[in-house]
Amino acid sequence: GQCVMVCPTGALAENDQTQAVLNYLIDPEIVTVFQIAPAIRVGFGQEFGLPAGTNVEGQVVSALRAIGADVILDTNFAADLVIMEEGNEVLGRVLEGRGTTFTSCCPGWVDFAEKHFPGILPMVSSTRSPQQCLGSLAKTYLAKKMDIDAKHIRVVSIMPCTAKKQEAARPELAKDGVPDVDVVLTIREFARLLRREGVNLAELEPSAFDDPLMSEYTGAGVIFGTTGGVMEAAIRTLYFVANGKELDGIEVHDVRGFDRVREATIEVGGQVGTLNVAMVHGLKGAAQVAQAVLDGSVKYDFIEVMACPGGCIDGGGHLRSKKGYLKHAEARRKGLYAIDRKTGARQSHNNQQVQKLYQDFLGEPLSHASHDLLHTHYQAKPRETDV
Ligand code: SF4
Repeated sequence: GQCVMVCPTGALAENDQTQAVLNYLIDPEIVTVFQIAPAIRVGFGQEFGLPAGTNVEGQVVSALRAIGADVILDTNFAADLVIMEEGNEVLGRVLEGRGTTFTSCCPGWVDFAEKHFPGILPMVSSTRSPQQCLGSLAKTYLAKKMDIDAKHIRVVSIMPCTAKKQEAARPELAKDGVPDVDVVLTIREFARLLRREGVNLAELEPSAFDDPLMSEYTGAGVIFGTTGGVMEAAIRTLYFVANGKELDGIEVHDVRGFDRVREATIEVGGQVGTLNVAMVHGLKGAAQVAQAVLDGSVKYDFIEVMACPGGCIDGGGHLRSKKGYLKHAEARRKGLYAIDRKTGARQSHNNQQVQKLYQDFLGEPLSHASHDLLHTHYQAKPRETDV
């Protein structure tokens, strides 16, 4: 539109929030806290000409440093934390026979359920998404530990989708009107921001996170970016809870794949016994499974839903080519599994920074503090066509 015509770089098209982030970066009073989603590290390189699936995590950290980020955190850390909270929710519901639990980490799905399947809402995990858990903790736990006034903190997320922008703006995820996540940049916006600042990701040397509080992650946290990944991460931890030892072989291949709706029967053992689970990606499959659950024609203990076909590795923010569409998603998914395999700890409960967070701040999963900071509620919303 008009904006593009007056803006020489074209940077101000489509609800672009790169300028808001630049304003934070130049304000000496503001402490900028960045977080990057699991899928970003295997999808973002394409914006700078690298092949899909290339792990550019270290280059993204370097790029954020180059533009002046104060603190760089990893949403993967919060994915591990979500497994601790949501895993305990599922465990409680299974042991008490309270029926199925749907995952809640995808705002595209949560929004869809609120508009089209309100009957499902009591079954949706109350655990906030990793993005929101990390934002909430940045303004409480991190502020306390780093002795920063939370008023000065701005949390910026780099995310694979625009649904994360709407999630960050939800009023129930704000404290006294201040959102936990201030700005969400999509992949395209982040690329534009770097170009405006003259940073070429492909030329940067990788560097490591330096924050000691919330940047460690396990292999379970990183696979959140693909369909089946949240379920696999949860099973690794539920197995440990039920048996007091780690699952042999670690990986749960029965929940992997690209079919729209997948089912698996998982022998967890111990007090948990057998779990019937389903993994769904794309809203067509989500509608199908939600309806079947409401009808009572299927009985699952735990259902993972991601609104985008493929999961976040093919979220709407990624570069697409009409031909290589699935090929890119597959390459990114392979990239995530490769990171999982080379990560020292591969189960969320073995994340030492998550353990420390519980020891020093939250107490235990589902504690009062956890409920305040890491959980939420949902409500039926009118569909667009009803408004
Ligand atoms: Fe966003 Fe899609 Fe991931 Fe859902 S599946 S969080 S809509 S990228």
